[in-house]
Amino acid sequence: MHASEIIPGVYVAKGKFADEFGFISSYLIVDGDAAIIIDPGTAGDPGKEMLDFVRTIGLNPKSDIIAILCTHGHPDHIGGAGIIRKTTGAPIMIHKKDAEMVTDPTSFIKTRLRLDFGGRMKMKVDTGPLRVNYRPAEVGRTLNDGDIIEVGNTTLKVIHTGGHSAGHCSFYDAGRKMLFSGDEVNNFPNDPRKFYVDLSGSLTARRAGINRLADLVVEYLMPSHDVAHMLSEVSLQFKEARDGIIQFQDAVLSHLTARGEADLEQMIFDIQQARSIPTPTDDYGLFTTTLEVCLRDLSRAGLIRVDGNGIWRPI
Ligand SMILES: [Zn+2]
Repeated sequence: MHASEIIPGVYVAKGKFADEFGFISSYLIVDGDAAIIIDPGTAGDPGKEMLDFVRTIGLNPKSDIIAILCTHGHPDHIGGAGIIRKTTGAPIMIHKKDAEMVTDPTSFIKTRLRLDFGGRMKMKVDTGPLRVNYRPAEVGRTLNDGDIIEVGNTTLKVIHTGGHSAGHCSFYDAGRKMLFSGDEVNNFPNDPRKFYVDLSGSLTARRAGINRLADLVVEYLMPSHDVAHMLSEVSLQFKEARDGIIQFQDAVLSHLTARGEADLEQMIFDIQQARSIPTPTDDYGLFTTTLEVCLRDLSRAGLIRVDGNGIWRPI
């Protein structure tokens, strides 16, 4: 694990490079003799290595870590939360709609991905960043939109975006113009590997969430994958993330319109053949999940409908 101070008192720890997921990033904010960890990472990496790092900068994990803050409940970001909680005694904080993945880790596989039996079996032996290899832990505080988290003199505002997953939150430090964006806005918004939403998420909510984030004054964008963005690049990140979602929705709609009617499998085939939008090639079925969420969003908007046999049609 490599950790560095990005701006005074704010550290990033990068886990190992995890193929399609890039680097998984954890953050540490230190203010006086108090510190909080944001997104502890997988169970091992950065995960418990964060504790070693905390000691190397002269902090006592037991007395100085006051909170473990989670942008959302996916295993690549909360896997390490339980171990850190056990050592530090600090409360795990996460939005109530993602809290179940902390208290019941298998709920990620059961309710957030669209996996068939074979897929679920495969997840049991998975060694990738989404592996569920951690024990249930207690949530100390559930977060709501507008909540304030304080560490020393630093104040973080909770912004519930709920696109990437139903309980996804970003954390904003207005004083330092710093946004911890989690997986809602990350480095390569159009990258198929980072584009997905889980079954509880929504592309419409993601667009609305990004619009809210784009209204903030942000000089430091701290995503939960790869590296932080600073200064002038930040507004472009928001724009690209938003454009990527619109492009995805448009492509799905135009494929369905061209065919007249299609089920999920047909849509996947058509889109992959046409290469009209980036599609992840992971083992987790993230593209199927994202496509299903997109179809539901378009249906809610009155643009398409589905019949009892799972056949989608434009209206
Ligand atoms: Zn995620």
